[in-house]
Formats: sequence, structure tokens, C-alpha cells
Amino acid sequence: MRINKFSKHLFSTITLCFFCFLFWATSEKKESRENESTTTEMKEEKPTEWTCNICKTTFTHNGFELDENGNCKSLEEPMQGFLCSCKCAKEARGNFDKAYDDVMEATSYQADNDCKFESDNDVLTYLIGKSFTQDGGTIKIRFDASGATISGMQYQWMSYTSLGGYKGKVKLSSIDPSNPDATITLYVSCKEKSITDGQTVLFLD
Ligand SMILES: [Zn+2]
Repeated sequence: MRINKFSKHLFSTITLCFFCFLFWATSEKKESRENESTTTEMKEEKPTEWTCNICKTTFTHNGFELDENGNCKSLEEPMQGFLCSCKCAKEARGNFDKAYDDVMEATSYQADNDCKFESDNDVLTYLIGKSFTQDGGTIKIRFDASGATISGMQYQWMSYTSLGGYKGKVKLSSIDPSNPDATITLYVSCKEKSITDGQTVLFLD
């Protein structure tokens, strides 16, 4: 009788433990599935953020730029420029223009007053095979058919645009594995025979 009572007790304990385990295993599984779906949702909902070149705020749309007539427009593709608003796009253009004015003063003796970019292709044709070096500095850019080598880093063409007259604009993206997301926008002037990113000016070698 005593053994029987003991085994009965043992049996109910085992049964209870089994159900406890079953409950634990089920809830554990459910929890991990919930975690999984939360992670996936977060990934899907979080858009890519860019940092504005001018005001340094972050934004998630494609950005803005000024077209050849100076009108502000939103970019159709991301990674083509990093300007959050029309105001910042105008300020960036102003910086480029100022950098050019400074170059004009410094290099008026060698200005090519007849040069003109009639088409976007003219900008490309002008640059291919040419190299430019920073005045008194170490930065060097060499352009070829596939893109440019900037201080040893390889870039490929994204776009090249005539801004009318002697000014053009080119965009390049890095194909260097150490810096795969980097893009660079450069303004070209065939009149001053120079290119600039708005801060550093490089002259034709
Ligand atoms: Zn901005």
C-alpha cells in the first residue's frame, strides 16, 4: 500500500514536470519567434539615412540639387548628392561659385576664355586623359574612360553634366573595397582649367 501511494505520488510529479517542461518549451519558442519578427520589421521600417553636406542634419529622402538653370529639384536616385533641402543645395552651389571666383583671381593669367561645355559629353571629353593637382598640396586626380583615380583611390563615373558655359559637374563613386559607399561631386571649369569640391581646388597639370 505504501509503495503504491509513493509511486502514485511519483507519477503525478513526473506528469506535472512534463507539463511544466512542455509549457516552458512552447513559450520559449513563441518568444523567439516574436523576437525574430520584431527584428525583421525593424529592418524593413528603418530607411537609409544620409547626412547633409551643408547643415549636417540626417535625412532619408534622395536629396536636392540645383539644375543647370539654378532651379532646385529633388533627385530621382539616392546616393547622387547629400543635400537635405533647396536652401542647402543653394548654399553648396554658392560655395562652389566662391571657390571658382577665388581660382579666377589666382589664375586669371592662364584662363581659357573661349572654352565652353556645349553638352554633357563635352565635360567627359575634356576630363578624360587629364590630371589635376592641388596647388601647393598633395591631392592628385587623374581621369580616364572608366572614372578617376583620386590620391590612389579608384572611382567610377556616376554622372557628368554641363552647367552651361565653362562650368560642368561630375559625380563619381568609389569602387575601392575599403570605402565602397563614398561618392564625390566635383565642379569642373575649363576656363580656369581646374576642378574643385568646393573646398580644395586642383589645377590642370
Ligand atoms: Zn542641409
